[in-house]
Amino acid sequence: MHPRVRRRFMETLAVLGIIATTLFGASPARADYAAMMQPASGRVTYVVGGCPSDPRPTHMGIDIAGPGGAPIVAAYDGVVTTRVVNFGTSGYGNHVLITHASGYTTLYAHMQQAPAVVLNQFVTKGQTIGLIGHTGNSFGDHLHFELKRNGANIANQGYSCGQTVTRGHAIAMDFPGLQSNATRTIHETAVHGVAWKRMSTGQQISSSVFTTVNMGTGWGDILSSSGGYLWHTLVSGGRWVTLNSGLSLNATSMSAVNVGQASPQILAVEDGRLMHIWGDSNGWHKGWTGIHTTGKVSAVVMANNSIQAMINQGGTLYQVWTGGGAWHIASSGQPVGDAFEAVYMGGSAPQVMTVLNGQLHQIWATSTEWVTMSTGIVIAPGASLTALNMGGGWPQVFTAEAGNLYQTAVMNGSWTRMATGTQASGPIDAVYLGGGEQPRVYAAE
Ligand SMILES: [Zn+2]
Repeated sequence: MHPRVRRRFMETLAVLGIIATTLFGASPARADYAAMMQPASGRVTYVVGGCPSDPRPTHMGIDIAGPGGAPIVAAYDGVVTTRVVNFGTSGYGNHVLITHASGYTTLYAHMQQAPAVVLNQFVTKGQTIGLIGHTGNSFGDHLHFELKRNGANIANQGYSCGQTVTRGHAIAMDFPGLQSNATRTIHETAVHGVAWKRMSTGQQISSSVFTTVNMGTGWGDILSSSGGYLWHTLVSGGRWVTLNSGLSLNATSMSAVNVGQASPQILAVEDGRLMHIWGDSNGWHKGWTGIHTTGKVSAVVMANNSIQAMINQGGTLYQVWTGGGAWHIASSGQPVGDAFEAVYMGGSAPQVMTVLNGQLHQIWATSTEWVTMSTGIVIAPGASLTALNMGGGWPQVFTAEAGNLYQTAVMNGSWTRMATGTQASGPIDAVYLGGGEQPRVYAAE
């Protein structure tokens, strides 16, 4: 963005009575639907209290019958507050209790081996903590999973007898306060000299719903939905600031793009609807696109400066575009993973990078159909992903896996995944500032 345009944008914010502040004390809170992920794959053979065919009033958890030796992952970020090694035949056997934010705890019992984590270790959502087994009071390989808030069993809100669940998929229930109340610090990871380095911006948001965009300032602009408002974190006057835009927003997903105007444009999912957000000299505006969705959205700018987006709605990829003064949506027919991002590489539709079946996949449109192909790159369960176009004809991908940041790109004709040597545990989003530099990766954690 031209400096004068940037200044006008900042003045617009000032006119709106916008105050630079952090989000401490911001008001709560959505229900954080589906914030936790399934810790294991298998069939639910018992819920809390047993099943109609076999009531067990003293049974306090969800039994997920899966193959012995299969991974068990942490359902959410937290701290290991109990770790027991017990190869005997009583109680929970080898097990782990993780304490999360806002009074939530999860317990994972009957592990085949000693837990793969240590006491007081901070673990991230999707991190492998042990293997399915049948130690303790167990008659076959299964995970006994307890999910409580303030000591009360709540797992039956998200599980039913006979259901089949998949490790890494979302647990379909509300987790009030789990994400929204957690204060996160925005970190920036970029190449300085010859090495990737991770630094704190010093800016805090109380949300994991954020998006970054290159507005030409030399840093990423970060937009987040927290405490009922749209917030804007950016470098102004040589320092990072976080501004309340004054626009009310309760987004569960959002994605910002630069269409060559003074302020970013944003597509956001709010209350089951896809909203279009833009700023001008009169402030920020929000309008409904006419599209219903509860999914995750990722927007791109096309060659003609129009916006398109890809949406993960229930594991299926949809394309959103504008034409004739209206927004349109159509299914691509392709499966898409929880971790995905759209990127514009040319042509009439965005490409998508996603994790499916534990591998990084590329999805694109030919003139007649959508195509999905595996890159062959293995990605850890629960990874956060961001993709960008840095030229060269192939997208580049960053993944935050089990606390570490990786870069995946096509090198010498083959997909290659490289450790950056830096940490990233939260959701990530990256911007490419041009000039052949490496991107800047932002994480809220
Ligand atoms: Zn059980």
